[in-house]
Amino acid sequence: MSVTVRVPAKVNVQLGVGGLRADGFHDLANVFFAVALGDEVTATAGTGVTLTCSGPDAAVVPLDDSNLAARAARLLATHHGIADPGVHLHIAKAIPVAGGMAGGSADGAAALVACDALWGLDTPLDTLLELAAELGSDVPFALLGGVALGRGRGEILEALPVGGTFHWVFAVADGGLSTPAVFRECDRLRDEAGTGSSDTDVTTPDADPALLAALADGDVVALAEALANDLQPAALSLRPALADTLRAGTEAGALGALVSGSGPTCAFLAKDADAAAAVAAALRASGTCRAAHATYGPVPGASVLGS
Ligand code: ATP
Repeated sequence: MSVTVRVPAKVNVQLGVGGLRADGFHDLANVFFAVALGDEVTATAGTGVTLTCSGPDAAVVPLDDSNLAARAARLLATHHGIADPGVHLHIAKAIPVAGGMAGGSADGAAALVACDALWGLDTPLDTLLELAAELGSDVPFALLGGVALGRGRGEILEALPVGGTFHWVFAVADGGLSTPAVFRECDRLRDEAGTGSSDTDVTTPDADPALLAALADGDVVALAEALANDLQPAALSLRPALADTLRAGTEAGALGALVSGSGPTCAFLAKDADAAAAVAAALRASGTCRAAHATYGPVPGASVLGS
């Protein structure tokens, strides 16, 4: 018997980053948006917790116990008092690795749902969300999907109303960016600019009312204007070539462009599906990215496909 779970990647349509807290984290105002570009995780009965991975980035996905899918399977087993869990997890990976789209977190959420179904546990969603938050700040959103406002480190979620489907293009860069390195660069740039980087220097971020209204109204022009990512200057500082990618997509007709999360994937908002296909084609032809994918959202969180 096996269970396959499909799980979305995310783009942050707003990523407001507060100052560095004493505990090393930053307060975030994080509007997560789930897109149809996603991974599939298949859980099959096995011995111990074993992993395989396929897809263009498979070679750089860790297959040891550091993989978030393996950690999720073990965490769920421990929660239910299963001393010796048996599962093989196969990750069919489409989400770029270390791309700022929360691919590892997505696989963690998918493994929770897949193992829960495989082992017949029927864990309540609230409990799955708590386990997800233990795994990482972005994991609860991958369970929930849709569009949500994340506060704290991003793990306290409030589902947001959305008035329609939006069309996106994602330009995948060669190589990833380390999320902690991008946050450190954000702090460094703030210190360099003289504004300071601690939580006493930087105003605690909040969701932008214009962005929330654009989402609720399904207004793509207003959403494109409101897109905002406080990590973008840091990602561009570490990877200046991303400016060429952002320019190429904008020149091809994207209504809005931003770095996705900590990057280096760049996200483009298009008027409709045809415009998204045209932007993706132009980005591929521009030579400023490794691949470009047209997709849409919002879509649901980790969901069982078949068993
Ligand atoms: P985020 O947007 O949440 O900051 P990201 O999309 O930039 O994350 P991930 O793809 O989640 O980055 O990968 C970050 C690192 O996590 C990888 O370099 C890898 O070492 C590790 N990792 C652990 N589990 C996985 C997984 N299932 N898939 C990909 N990377 C994983």
